Amino acid sequence: MGTPQRDVKVNYSEVQKDLLIEKHCAFLIGYGRSHNTYEYGATDYLRMSGIYWLCTCLDLLHSLKLIDQEHIIDYIQKCYDKNSGGYSPCPNHDPHLLYTLSAVQLLVQLNRTDLIDKQSLCSYIKQLQQDDGSFIGDQWGEIDTRFSFCAVACLKLIDSLDTIDIDRATNFIMSCLNFDGGFGCIPGAESHAGQIYCCLGFLSLVQRLDNLDLSTRNMLAWWLCERQLDKSGGLNGRPEKLPDVCYSWWVLASLKILGKIQWINREKLSKFILASQDDETGGCSDRPGNIPDPFHTLFGIAGLSLLNTYDENIIRKVNPVLCMPEYIIQKLEIKMQLL
Ligand SMILES: [Zn+2]
Repeated sequence: MGTPQRDVKVNYSEVQKDLLIEKHCAFLIGYGRSHNTYEYGATDYLRMSGIYWLCTCLDLLHSLKLIDQEHIIDYIQKCYDKNSGGYSPCPNHDPHLLYTLSAVQLLVQLNRTDLIDKQSLCSYIKQLQQDDGSFIGDQWGEIDTRFSFCAVACLKLIDSLDTIDIDRATNFIMSCLNFDGGFGCIPGAESHAGQIYCCLGFLSLVQRLDNLDLSTRNMLAWWLCERQLDKSGGLNGRPEKLPDVCYSWWVLASLKILGKIQWINREKLSKFILASQDDETGGCSDRPGNIPDPFHTLFGIAGLSLLNTYDENIIRKVNPVLCMPEYIIQKLEIKMQLL
């Protein structure tokens, strides 16, 4: 026998069991409004992604109409960097691929792709691709498989995938495949659920999942379902780590891409996500009893959507690759490969 699992204790007889839709919406809208609070200032550099988390979550809960969309569009425009063609997390910061994806996702979601300068965006992304096919996130030159995902996701949303060298980009992703079937951030780096999601998402968007043979797919699916912990039912991101609601998303979406979502115990995971809601303020936290934030609220709700815990009239279907409402992806006729 191996070492006992690290897990958290959840008293399931006492925790929240119902989905607190109205409270979550109020929490998300309040978060967007609290511009001058310390919390908001402290996470300045995350602001563009923060707006994406809260808008996507509201949309999944059929409540996007509750926010001031003009204000958000205005903000995105202020984060556009004319010189590079990319977007920054907040005005007067440097652009980065991560926030560029959030900005593009938002503009697509708010039906304002007319505001995107496609040509500049394409050249911004193209110049971030390196000779080995990898992508850097900005001019500082860090390489990470996350950035490969961001590059193809942005291009796919504006129907311009042929801008980059897909063969070389795919070769780089495949060079990050480990013996356990998982992926790391660079070749040789440890497997991690977040990176696995990005690499599978990349292969799905460029429709090259066939690069993974059957035994690799099975090994990877096993690695992913071993992330579910026996007692709490939550999922962790790597062996020996505590469960965390955001991994419901990275792991579940990866299993969905692999066609193996049924390998997870749905009921136990749904309970863990619901127990992570804050029944006073609304919002979800990383695990029961902690402080809620928009990031874990989105990934908790998106996880429940993938698990089909609720009817579509309550939580919209989410697209497992782009983490956006499925109706938008269908409207744009964006094709991706799912096994
Ligand atoms: Zn987390």
